[in-house]
Amino acid sequence: MDDVRARMAAAAKTVGRELGAITLVAVSKQQPWSHVAPVLDAGQRVFGENRVQEAMVRWGELRVARPDLELRLIGPLQTNKAKEAVGFFDVIETVDRDRLARAVADAVQALGRTPKLYIQVNTGEEPQKAGVTPADADAFVAALRRDYGLSVEGLMCIPPADEPAGPHFALLAKIAARNGLTGLSMGMSADFETAIRFGATSVRVGSALFGVRN
Ligand SMILES: *Cc1c(COP(=O)(O)O)cnc(C)c1O
Repeated sequence: MDDVRARMAAAAKTVGRELGAITLVAVSKQQPWSHVAPVLDAGQRVFGENRVQEAMVRWGELRVARPDLELRLIGPLQTNKAKEAVGFFDVIETVDRDRLARAVADAVQALGRTPKLYIQVNTGEEPQKAGVTPADADAFVAALRRDYGLSVEGLMCIPPADEPAGPHFALLAKIAARNGLTGLSMGMSADFETAIRFGATSVRVGSALFGVRN
């Protein structure tokens, strides 16, 4: 973890940013607990998971004992799991369609609990990937606010694996800026330094922290 933090600090410094303005989200999905525990013990408190059920099993009891944990859903969310996700996560990063926005809004109403929300943008317009297209993003942000009464903290993206990530991060930052959004969740193990240079406010790092997933 010290190594990743040092790399984050170095990247931030090259563009005159403060490390404190960038959250390290430790992506613990599919990692054995023996890899996660030392990172938790070392003081890491923000973790990302990509499945609702898996996250609840792993973190459900722990989070009662550790109210300072912050858990983020970074994987696709099915509409029928929206209520569980709203009840459990502190941040949901993958809001990406009207039906899901409706389900999240209903769950927020029912539970009286509002996680921070990010909209996933499919910056590479890849058919196999979730997310709104860049062209639809402004309208979707507006719809969340106006039609569903939800406030949006920021945007999230996963650039295509076979392209330089920089232009995708720049695009996400541009869409966020013109919509008055401050949160930028971008950058993974392979490209978090680039993401920080393009303004990431959180980076989602898995294998560089925990080793290769099973
Ligand atoms: C798995 C995953 C990550 C972490 O990937 P690494 O390359 O292991 O850092 C980040 N973001 C999302 C959305 C993921 O699904």
